[in-house]
Amino acid sequence: MPDGRDPVPSSPTENANSGRSETALSGPTEKCGVVGVSLTERDAARPLYYSLYALQHRGQESAGIVTHDGFQQHDHVEMGLVGDAFTEDDIESLRGSAGIGHVRYPTAGSVDKSCAQPFTVSFRSGALGLSHNGNLVNADEVRDELAAEGHAFTSDGDTEVIAHDLARNLLEEDLVRAVKRTMGRIHGSYSLTIMQDDTVLGVRDPEGNRPLCIGELDDGYVVASESAAIDTLDGELVRDVRPGELVVLQPDGEGFDSYQLFEREHTAHCFFEHVYFARPDSVIDGKLVYEVRRDLGRELWAESGIDTDVVMPVPDSGRAFASGYADAAQDDGASVEFAEGLMKNRYVGRTFIMPTQDERERAVRLKLNPIKSTVEGKTVTLVDDSIVRGTTSTQLVQLLKDCGAAEVHMRIGAPPIAAPCYMGINMATREELIAADRSTEEIRDEIEADSLGYLSPDAVAAALGEDRDDLCMGCVTGEYPYDIDGEEMDPAHADNPRPEL
Ligand code: SF4
Repeated sequence: MPDGRDPVPSSPTENANSGRSETALSGPTEKCGVVGVSLTERDAARPLYYSLYALQHRGQESAGIVTHDGFQQHDHVEMGLVGDAFTEDDIESLRGSAGIGHVRYPTAGSVDKSCAQPFTVSFRSGALGLSHNGNLVNADEVRDELAAEGHAFTSDGDTEVIAHDLARNLLEEDLVRAVKRTMGRIHGSYSLTIMQDDTVLGVRDPEGNRPLCIGELDDGYVVASESAAIDTLDGELVRDVRPGELVVLQPDGEGFDSYQLFEREHTAHCFFEHVYFARPDSVIDGKLVYEVRRDLGRELWAESGIDTDVVMPVPDSGRAFASGYADAAQDDGASVEFAEGLMKNRYVGRTFIMPTQDERERAVRLKLNPIKSTVEGKTVTLVDDSIVRGTTSTQLVQLLKDCGAAEVHMRIGAPPIAAPCYMGINMATREELIAADRSTEEIRDEIEADSLGYLSPDAVAAALGEDRDDLCMGCVTGEYPYDIDGEEMDPAHADNPRPEL
């Protein structure tokens, strides 16, 4: 292979989506989780493996680790869940105290091993490994330019574009300048862990769209998408990687060097990380996700609370929201009782085979079952984090009414999702989004709830403790912090122009 990458199988590993239909309960999916580890006294593979387990919720299609032992790279990248992708022998074979890892759910590029990560490139000055969470919006332009210079690509993913650009720059510049030059050419959302030979780096895009944080271990440092990965290693969260910052983990384990390569007036943190994607036990941009979700629930009560007999979450996604909502209601003297009225079957996977629409609609009964004594004859507030297509909400309202609920009121801990995401979240197309062309009242009518309340963008910003202009809410407003073909740009991010190549 011209760039040293593992040969791509001529018959790709089974397309993870083939033969499967999304259930009515499948929601938006995160693209990826990334991690990088630099240690002094042991191999990095096992801590990386544990970290990938902690980040499994961010991607289930492929998992990979690349390490470096000071002389050469070792890699193992496989389709499937972390637990299935590695054997004990695989972990043992990944020698070296520095490494990076990746779990992937694809939104850009193919669903096969050619796009699985970490991506590796061998070039004249050494070996490069790269793990990416996010999505570039100018990947095609950069790829075309690199291809014109003779770079051969083995995948249609944007991560390979970053890897080739960086490898090219490293032939002419030192590490920090090379990273800066690449960051100046790519446009979009990216949190990266990179390994140049045995040096591990973490990079967050200048708007800080996707999370990335630094942790300290007894014998080294780690950069990871979420702090839950650091907890898994018994490490201490040091801080978030700042938007536009490059951190270089020192190979002697003594610390890390920081380079603030780009600064913007506003960040564009993805609000949906806090609402939906991130683990509740992670701390992102200084806030514990669980507490943010409870605060979103409290804001929801303040904006559209209704005093019903019971308030119940859609498990598991609505639980923290519903608990905050019920607490705020009780603080206000409402008689509403918090109750778990829907029980989840934990053994039904994220997706499973449901060939017909009729059978797909039964998916909700396979996955969630109401507790009749909690619901029958009661007025119910059902709390969830978001409504995307509306199918699940419709089915849940029907389920509770079939079970004897007197009224079902839906409360949602986010604003209406009305536009697609181009930054690495597999949301839905505009046509599929129930809020794309409907008012709240029209949606209430469609899902047949007795009332429906969403949270306002300002309340989301308040719960996150952020300035509204420092959040990406492109999927709510249709205005994005990046220059995306055919879409409006959020005026607050006018200082984030698309690079001219
Ligand atoms: S468009 Fe929505 S999901 Fe995508 S990055 Fe922005 S806030 Fe997150």
